[in-house]
Amino acid sequence: MTTSSPTNRDPEKSSTAAAASISPALSKARVLLGVTGGIAAYKSCLLLRMLAESGCRTRVVTTRHAEHFVGRLTFSTLSGHPAYADPFEEGEVDHTEHIDLSQWADLAIVAPATANIIGKAANGIADDFLSTLLCAFDKPRLFAPAMNLRMWHNPAVQRNLRQLEADGATLAPPDEGWLACGEVGAGRMAAPERIFEWARWLLVRSDELAGRRVLVTAGPTREDLDDVRFLSNPSTGKMGFALARGAQHMGAVVRLVSGPVDLPTPIGVCRTDVRSAAEMRDAVHRHYDETEILVMCAAVADYSPRKQPGKLKKGPGDLELRLGGTEDILAGLAVNKGDRLHVGFAVETSDELENARLKLERKKLDLICVNNPLEEGSGFGCDTNRVTLLDREGGEQRLPLLDKDETARRILARAARMISRD
Ligand code: C5P
Repeated sequence: MTTSSPTNRDPEKSSTAAAASISPALSKARVLLGVTGGIAAYKSCLLLRMLAESGCRTRVVTTRHAEHFVGRLTFSTLSGHPAYADPFEEGEVDHTEHIDLSQWADLAIVAPATANIIGKAANGIADDFLSTLLCAFDKPRLFAPAMNLRMWHNPAVQRNLRQLEADGATLAPPDEGWLACGEVGAGRMAAPERIFEWARWLLVRSDELAGRRVLVTAGPTREDLDDVRFLSNPSTGKMGFALARGAQHMGAVVRLVSGPVDLPTPIGVCRTDVRSAAEMRDAVHRHYDETEILVMCAAVADYSPRKQPGKLKKGPGDLELRLGGTEDILAGLAVNKGDRLHVGFAVETSDELENARLKLERKKLDLICVNNPLEEGSGFGCDTNRVTLLDREGGEQRLPLLDKDETARRILARAARMISRD
């Protein structure tokens, strides 16, 4: 079992699996992307596409040097609007354009952010269109630094980064790895998926769960048959990770207990990885004292075999497996629940609401989220879900087909209202 607590400055693993899908929370957002002169500019095209695909309205400003790496037409095409180069320099002077654009946007992202733009933004220097615009910008700013490792470690650059943070800007920390200059180390721009996640956080954060301690479980469990085989299910963890991310965006302190999945840890979330139902139970129990809201989204195995050492040999005829029941984590915690809020999930393929209500009562839940994986858009691994919420007072709310982040947001908003009433 391993435990990790990502901090904001740690390079974190990224995954192309975290692709964007239309999100109502982002569909009204106006995002300005500043692209400066670094080879990582090609990755900004992917970031721009993710922002556009998630419903954000986008505008791009490139610096003179950025155009050596990626042509303006690429950014114009992806944003659906002519990209701005440097109207000051090109003589297309409209003296208020930088002000208009700075008022238009809800968020400014600079990716890649060179040592040059970081230095200018940290010191209030405004000598081209992008730096002037940033100087006039009084809403959230997100910088994704990208540079050679020695530039990254330069004390002046580090000083400027600290100054930017002190001034309220957010940094998407660079990864360590192979750099375009051939060296290996810190300075490689964060993956576009990661920058997108920072952007989403800046656009949707709220204080609905401010300071609340939320424990979310996610993913499948694996029950070992022998040393090389196991029983499991197709859960990918997407719904649970969306809940952990959503709770963090609402201001909660989040612990995520996850079965084996291939997803990056949401920013700011503390994660504990487990394998089996028994390990998941132990991890949940370990963090239960400090928990105010427990969201059991994991697809925990109900049965487990007695593990054979080595590899089970193939023999003639059929193999009969004897499975023992696992401990029901939610039901087991019902007695000591106190004033905690328990949220469960039910995957049902028939008589969904009746079965879910029985489960709600049997496990003494406050809220249960039921979905039918046979319905289109609700299966394991989808980016969407169609969930019905049943609460302990008999309330029933059918949510429409939504992406998992929005589904999570609605479940958590409901939980937030319930816990503040209790
Ligand atoms: O009874 P069923 O497994 O369908 O209940 C599903 C709910 O119970 C989910 O919230 C799941 O995370 C939780 N569960 C649990 N412990 C188990 C099995 C399921 O807490 N051993």
